[in-house]
Amino acid sequence: MEVLKKCPYCGGEVSEEAQKCKHCGEWINPAPQPVQQQYVVNQVDPQPSNGIGIAGFVISLVCIFLCWIPGLNIIVWLVGFILSLIGIFKKPRGLAIAGLVISSIMAVIMIAILGAITFAVFENL
Ligand SMILES: [Zn+2]
Repeated sequence: MEVLKKCPYCGGEVSEEAQKCKHCGEWINPAPQPVQQQYVVNQVDPQPSNGIGIAGFVISLVCIFLCWIPGLNIIVWLVGFILSLIGIFKKPRGLAIAGLVISSIMAVIMIAILGAITFAVFENL
């Protein structure tokens, strides 16, 4: 059984599959279907970079070399620690975690150095 539709131009009944009206000869375009463009909104950068996390990691590394300089070591450590901490909340967080781990280790080492220096100073008094 043939499904009929009405020609939008002359109102004559034409086949559902007809491209052209047999009455008036107009081309019948199928009603444009609302195109549901289901694009996945990609809000993530193609190559996400975690600048703060990387900075925290690098500064934590620098802290390893500066940990024996009193005053400077605390500043560098603090900057590296804070940047790593902020970087944890961004992606990718691999380097930020590494920075935080290094900062934690450096904190222990610096306390140990500080303790050793303090001990040495008091011993020499
Ligand atoms: Zn027609």
